[in-house]
Amino acid sequence: MSAHRGARGEIADIARQARSLLERVRESRWPGFEPPPAQPAPGLAVTARQVAASRPPAPRAAATAVRQRPVPAAPTVVEAPATRPQDEPCPWGSLEQVAEAVGSCTKCPLHTTRTRTVPGEGAPKARLMFVGEAPGAEEDRQGRPFVGAAGRLLTQMIGAMGLAREEVFIANVLKCRPPGNRDPQEHEVAACLPYLRAQIGLVRPQVICSLGRHAAHALLGRKDSLSGLRGRFFEYQGTPLMPTFHPSYLLRTPAEKPLAWKDLQQIMARLGLPQPARASTGQDRQ
Ligand code: URA
Ligand code: SF4
Repeated sequence: MSAHRGARGEIADIARQARSLLERVRESRWPGFEPPPAQPAPGLAVTARQVAASRPPAPRAAATAVRQRPVPAAPTVVEAPATRPQDEPCPWGSLEQVAEAVGSCTKCPLHTTRTRTVPGEGAPKARLMFVGEAPGAEEDRQGRPFVGAAGRLLTQMIGAMGLAREEVFIANVLKCRPPGNRDPQEHEVAACLPYLRAQIGLVRPQVICSLGRHAAHALLGRKDSLSGLRGRFFEYQGTPLMPTFHPSYLLRTPAEKPLAWKDLQQIMARLGLPQPARASTGQDRQ
């Protein structure tokens, strides 16, 4: 009898372990949540890559068809920022020149604690630009943006949109790591922002996606909570800007991933990218 109970206990243990493993696998995927039910429209069996390759501009018919499909309600309001950044003459003529200036920058105290500067990287004419907050430890070591744990999730998010990381441009508000990953300070943001503004002006993306509240605040000049900002388009100097969650936050709070995915879907609709028939993780609905 007790041997029988022991065997049952072991089976229960194994079942518990399997459930927890499954949970972990689910969390490690992107988006890891409810896929949109839409089926690809006939004649729209075109990959995101193909759409990207055919730019500019994105085919109107495809963009319209995408919008006609049941994408989650997309607020169409484009709000102007409360304050607009001053137009200032840009002293750099190329992304390489911006990176070079960043490389020798001493405009704020972060230059004394950095290992490497992290100017940003990606396609010089990217249609989509992601803007994060500041480099973390791994970025500081490598001199590249979003290469740590949050970066892996960002890369998955980009993939879920049907794009490759190399097709977008990825930058941060601060180009040097704040010690211990503390929040950026206002004077640091003020000193560093001209580099990001120059990068946006040179890449001229069709859409900017800001990640987390610091990037949204820096680009929009407003201090609303991120939950009050995300999910609708604003405008940064004439370019639609969608604030969404920072991938580090999503790693800590995976339950918010569905909302982030809605934000990304709105961006995809703007860019005329096809919505996936099923999210890449459809199989985790069991
Ligand atoms: N977090 C950011 O905001 N930027 C990075 O590059 C990495 C982590
Ligand atoms: Fe210069 Fe920006 Fe680095 Fe400060 S954070 S030293 S402003 S590049």
